[in-house]
Amino acid sequence: MSSGWDKFKDECGVVGVYGHSEAAKLCYLGLHALQHRGQESAGIAASDGSTVNVYRQMGLVADIFNEDTLARVPGSKAIGHTRYSTAGDSALLNAQPIVVDCNKGRIAVAHNGNIVNAADLRKNFERSGSIFQTTSDTEVVLHLIAKSHELTLVDAITDALRRLEGAYSLVLVTPTHVFAARDPRGFRPLAMGHIPGGSGRGDSVVFASETCAFDLIGAVYDRDVKPGEMVVVGPEGVSSRFYAPAMPQSNCIFEHVYFSRPDSLVFGLSVQQSREEMGRQLARESGVEADMVVPVPDSGVTASLGYALESGIPLQFGLIRNHYVGRTFIEPSQKVRDFGVKLKLNPVRQLLEGKRVILLDDSIVRGTTSKKIVRMIRDAGATEIHMRISCPPTIAPCYYGVDTPERRQLIASTKSVEEIREFIGADSLAFLSLDGLRKACSDGAETRYCTSCYTGKYPTDFVEIHTIKQAEVVPSV
Ligand code: SF4
Repeated sequence: MSSGWDKFKDECGVVGVYGHSEAAKLCYLGLHALQHRGQESAGIAASDGSTVNVYRQMGLVADIFNEDTLARVPGSKAIGHTRYSTAGDSALLNAQPIVVDCNKGRIAVAHNGNIVNAADLRKNFERSGSIFQTTSDTEVVLHLIAKSHELTLVDAITDALRRLEGAYSLVLVTPTHVFAARDPRGFRPLAMGHIPGGSGRGDSVVFASETCAFDLIGAVYDRDVKPGEMVVVGPEGVSSRFYAPAMPQSNCIFEHVYFSRPDSLVFGLSVQQSREEMGRQLARESGVEADMVVPVPDSGVTASLGYALESGIPLQFGLIRNHYVGRTFIEPSQKVRDFGVKLKLNPVRQLLEGKRVILLDDSIVRGTTSKKIVRMIRDAGATEIHMRISCPPTIAPCYYGVDTPERRQLIASTKSVEEIREFIGADSLAFLSLDGLRKACSDGAETRYCTSCYTGKYPTDFVEIHTIKQAEVVPSV
């Protein structure tokens, strides 16, 4: 069996809808647009006005939901979640939304991020007799809400959020309300919009990790949920409260490098534009004579376009991707070299033969996939291969909702650029500088990004504690 790919793993995607007769169906469509953020499980929780029902399954959104399963989550308020999980914890148990009945009523929650003090919080709860249903970090949010001494649900949620450390973009649904909140550092995105009403129906309010989900359901993007803000939507209308003081911002820059779809606005910026600018910046920083720019599809395509436009070197699709490959595949008994990568990518020999190629990808994680791709292109007849990466060397793991290998498995944590070049077998190798990346994602506020996986410096405490206890409480991602 082979899976053969080497990327930081996508995180989770969340959606929320308030005030639409087909709320669950809209969530389903929104989740379909966010499928790239998690492919292991998906779920929807919806309120029919008196209770909250939930339906969750392992698998892809389109396989999980149909008319029958959507009929199990009726109502005009709904939240949805699509999930990628780390190995070994992909059980249905941890699929979201998580729903509980507590002293504040019935609540369902869906989370994108990673609560870095979840292990400590959970240990304290368990000491005082609390019983957890899952091993997900998200469940501590519900325990904090239930244990809060605040009298109203809104105050209890606010109280709970103040005790969390780390990354969280959350949506919650109760029989009467939908809530959306973002951590005070704003690690993960969360956009807010509306579907215009008509013929006696008011506007519906919607939330999603990325705005590409809005496009599919006819929603208009209004703004981001702000870091440290909780938006409350109920029969009384839309209100907002800031539950935490302003903090230095840590928007995940890797959303722009790789995770988000180019047709999304993320942190208020077009991913297409920032990614194209990464390519342009890379061409300015490390230009080289060549006959063509070849992207590693799909995520390298937009930066390659920028590189080609800036350098004047033509863009050529010298690698073709097969989109219909699952996570694993049965290999023939006579081993095929680089089988895992060949399942996904095939070089176009007619384009590459005798050519000097700039091969552009968005990241190098372990280096093993890059090595195989370089070998494939060389076997297809390229005379020179100049590898260009549209972000800086990835030297440190992420603790904020992205599944990354351990530090020692990241090739750039132990090898210099020259050593990596030698390992992957390219004729030259260059990464985009951190300054260049910040510039490409700039809207005048360049200091607002988390860049910890490139610097090894983390904006929160608890990172090391979390590392030790990772096996006990898994990130919901
Ligand atoms: Fe994003 Fe990297 Fe920061 Fe994680 S460490 S939040 S992947 S920039």
